Amino acid sequence: MTFIPAEQLRREAQELIEKIDFSNIKPKDRIAIPMQEMPAQEPAVRAKNIQEVAIGYFEEQVKLEAERCLQCKNAPCIKGCPVEIDIPGFIKAAAEGDYQRSVNIIKKSSMLPAICGRVCPQETQCMAECTVGKSLKDFDKSVAIGRIERFVADWEREQGKMSLPEIAPATGKKVAIVGSGPAGLTAAADVRKAGHEVVLFEAFHKLGGVMIYGIPEFRLPKVILDKEIDNLLSMGVTIKKNFLVGRTRKLNDLIEKDGFDAVFVGTGAGLPNFMNIEGEGLVGVSSANEFLTRANLMKAYTPDKADTPIFTGKKTAIVGGGNVAMDAARMALRVGAEEVYVIYRRTEKEMPARREEIAHAKEEGITFLFLTNPKRIIGDADGKVSGLECLKYELGEPDDSGRRKPVEIKGSEFILEMDSVIMALGNSSNPLISQTTPEINVNRWGNILVSGDQKTSMERVYAGGDIVLGAATVILAMGEGRKAAESINKLLAE
Ligand SMILES: Cc1cc2nc3c(=O)[nH]c(=O)nc-3n(C[C@H](O)[C@H](O)[C@H](O)COP(=O)(O)OP(=O)(O)OC[C@H]3O[C@@H](n4cnc5c(N)ncnc54)[C@H](O)[C@@H]3O)c2cc1C
Ligand code: SF4
Repeated sequence: MTFIPAEQLRREAQELIEKIDFSNIKPKDRIAIPMQEMPAQEPAVRAKNIQEVAIGYFEEQVKLEAERCLQCKNAPCIKGCPVEIDIPGFIKAAAEGDYQRSVNIIKKSSMLPAICGRVCPQETQCMAECTVGKSLKDFDKSVAIGRIERFVADWEREQGKMSLPEIAPATGKKVAIVGSGPAGLTAAADVRKAGHEVVLFEAFHKLGGVMIYGIPEFRLPKVILDKEIDNLLSMGVTIKKNFLVGRTRKLNDLIEKDGFDAVFVGTGAGLPNFMNIEGEGLVGVSSANEFLTRANLMKAYTPDKADTPIFTGKKTAIVGGGNVAMDAARMALRVGAEEVYVIYRRTEKEMPARREEIAHAKEEGITFLFLTNPKRIIGDADGKVSGLECLKYELGEPDDSGRRKPVEIKGSEFILEMDSVIMALGNSSNPLISQTTPEINVNRWGNILVSGDQKTSMERVYAGGDIVLGAATVILAMGEGRKAAESINKLLAE
């Protein structure tokens, strides 16, 4: 992927539109339309600002991209979508320029289209099934479903006429939702639609879960999230922020003393993992969670407005290879690091981060050290990070995850000079609810165990999202929130 200026992309799309006779277009002509690249800010500029990197399609591009869709009768793309959006349906409406109908079709299945259009890993979901990608033998060239989704959702928001779902007459029943990530927000909306009173409890002072404190502004602008959350408030959901269920009030008390008829637990996986190597306690070492929370939620990226302390030295190492590592690396550049290194123990091919994020990080000047892993973090006399001793690795046989297992090369130690290290090694479940509610069964990783309808081992308590799945994705969390709401609505209708 090489950077192409936005205006050039628009001009090329316009020129192509003028050449195509859309009234008489055949499938082979559709496949011949090139996939429309996402316009983005210029790499050197964006690496030093916090504004969104991807600018979004121009109308000319959305027309062309939507016309690439073959409207397959069997629609394999729908099977790849965890919430089964009518993908050909919304793309057809977009191709016809009927953006309102397009977004309305998406909203039947997904409450947060502007968010999912930005952060869903489409290349491993809907796009991985797309007939266009199969025909071109390259799923990176499948119809860019998420980019079209983003365009129509943004269009609706910019028109200022976002529609609210209908709410059934009051039932007199009361439901508690714990956690305001995508799982909790979706569950809250669906339970509220059935006419139940809903109270949403959130530990932080801001709503949105990882979408607000983890995913950076340059990938998901907070105004978009706030707008989607405003919709929820307009539906009449009561919000209780700075409320830590398990501490502020026990989960059992919500049911036994506070009169809630059901509870949904969507508390996510917010407990960062560490390597347990020497030097992790040194000044200058942090988890990606803490680093990103300081930067995003506590606005450390605006030092003129917020006095939140954040530490990025001149040379920062990020350990890990997922989306969290990409976000931490790119944020480190934006809050002052001069050199940023991503250290990953496998090769680029095995990296779990989205291809687009890796490409963007490279364009911004981040250095990747593959087949490398830290052995210990070295400190100076003041207890501050001064370096990282690493080992080189090679790939062995595939492990449980299907990826080839990294095997250390004996005697390959070398030292990198660094003054800060950010650990981005994944997250585990927050243990507070299970520790304070022994009736809830969890597995050995602390994930809450649920049956097919998202019911936990405790009466009237349902759970979903990362607290059940382990660290997963926004759309999967939404899907679980939706399933749990359906079960709660069924229970309360009895
Ligand atoms: C840096 C980062 C980048 C990511 N990038 C992507 C991406 O690009 N695409 C993607 O699809 N996914 C991404 N993910 C994963 C995705 O964000 C999560 O899978 C998703 O947010 C999980 O949703 P959830 O509702 O289960 O939990 P969360 O989003 O974690 O929300 C849980 C909420 O519960 C609150 N809470 C916790 N305990 C309590 C309590 N006891 N009482 C009250 N409130 C509580 C928390 O404060 C939080 O607000 C990323 C994750 C991270 C960390
Ligand atoms: S599989 Fe691809 S081409 Fe077929 S309907 Fe879905 S998006 Fe369109």
